[in-house]
Amino acid sequence: MAKQKAPARTKDEGVARVQQARDLSDQLTGIGRDDLAEMTIQETSGVVRRAPIYSTETGEMVMVPRKRWTDVLSIRNLDGKFRFVADPADAPEWKENDVKCVFHPESPERAMLDEIGLASIVCDSEHLGSRYSQRIHGQNRHSTAWKVRADHLQDVKDATQAARMEEQTQAIRELGAAAVTKA
Ligand SMILES: [Zn+2]
Repeated sequence: MAKQKAPARTKDEGVARVQQARDLSDQLTGIGRDDLAEMTIQETSGVVRRAPIYSTETGEMVMVPRKRWTDVLSIRNLDGKFRFVADPADAPEWKENDVKCVFHPESPERAMLDEIGLASIVCDSEHLGSRYSQRIHGQNRHSTAWKVRADHLQDVKDATQAARMEEQTQAIRELGAAAVTKA
């Protein structure tokens, strides 16, 4: 039987425009996600258009419906960098069936897991089909550790969001102060 051909890794111009708006608003700092959503083209026809978006972590291609482009492109990694891009050239090469369990010794999360008390949970699975399989595998095989990890990631996310809100509030205060000074 012929091997199924992988879908072409193309750049979608629509997604690229949304990413441009994202990068611009990120530079202007303080522009929120709502403004970004307004900058993007609204859905006009009943047909849901899907376009490829690429993970900067794994190179994985995900087909995303238009109304979710902004949300997906706005996702950040813990280090604050954006997780997805429109152009496959900006993402690593995707190695199919090469997703490691998060508890694998070479997992990028290994140091973090050790730090939160999961050093003893080590798994050799390294041929999980996708990030989705990785999640199912983690939930089933390492249910308790998976929950500890999920709680930790949520805590970090909450803290990051609080810090970003504080940053925005500060920026608004500074703008206000500058306006007063000018007047
Ligand atoms: Zn595992």
